[in-house]
Amino acid sequence: MKRFVDKVVFVSGAARGQGEAEARLFIAEGAKVVIADVLDEDGARLAQELGPNALYLHLDVTQGAQWDAAVSKTLEHFGRLDVLVNNAGILRWGQIEDMSLEEYMAVISVNQVGCWLGMKAVLAALKSVGGGAIVNTSSVSGFVGMGGLSAYTASKFAVRGMTKCAALEFGRYNIRVNSVHPGGIDTAMVRGPDGELGDTHKSLPIPRVGTVDEVARMVAFLASDEASYTTGSEFIIDGGMTAGFNVVE
Ligand code: NAD
Repeated sequence: MKRFVDKVVFVSGAARGQGEAEARLFIAEGAKVVIADVLDEDGARLAQELGPNALYLHLDVTQGAQWDAAVSKTLEHFGRLDVLVNNAGILRWGQIEDMSLEEYMAVISVNQVGCWLGMKAVLAALKSVGGGAIVNTSSVSGFVGMGGLSAYTASKFAVRGMTKCAALEFGRYNIRVNSVHPGGIDTAMVRGPDGELGDTHKSLPIPRVGTVDEVARMVAFLASDEASYTTGSEFIIDGGMTAGFNVVE
């Protein structure tokens, strides 16, 4: 039984990586899907491949007016909106003493402000169909710090926090809001400039890097009625990265 028949799902940052895998899974589960991104060529190509149940829209998540336009186009094209996946994100490395305020704010604008703007922009549409679900993409960096990632970590802690506020505010509208917290997932974001993965994942309880499909399955579960009593909560997909560490072998 497909879980998203007659449902419309909006995924930000869906032209590649985890967002792409989420779009593919929602389509396979019967949904109509909006693929929103700044990577117009990749996004349009993906939407064409997925067929008439997919629509590509240009969206820079840092821009409130673009969010409003994208939601309007979604309603014009598909007639309703049921699910938002706030997935768009960027990562910038840099020690606090080296990072410029401009770089810091760029990360905050996409990851943190973009998530907040998305929830704000879809609220009326979700209310108008009697409810829905929002899944916000945080990270293990929403739980623990990592040297060189102050901006990213601050933004992902913020996503985890605002998810709980939204769950409290939107519960009365039958809208559930949860956050997902991936660890190391094999995408362009974690591969270095040479396309290589580091080997830190080899010491995890599940000693490998995660896949985009493993994240997509958690996101789809949270967006579906299977998660009907779940809101304001955190879902970690990290191979055990945040479980702790062994002191004896
Ligand atoms: P990715 O770089 O492959 O995908 C990110 C997508 O977001 C890209 O398509 C990009 O164009 C889009 N994007 C960036 N800025 C945007 C903007 N201003 N407006 C709209 N779209 C924009 O990386 P990914 O690994 O698939 O990341 C997806 C999400 O998962 C991000 O929020 C990321 O922080 C989070 N995450 C990733 C990992 C990981 O290990 N890959 C771990 C934890 C969390």
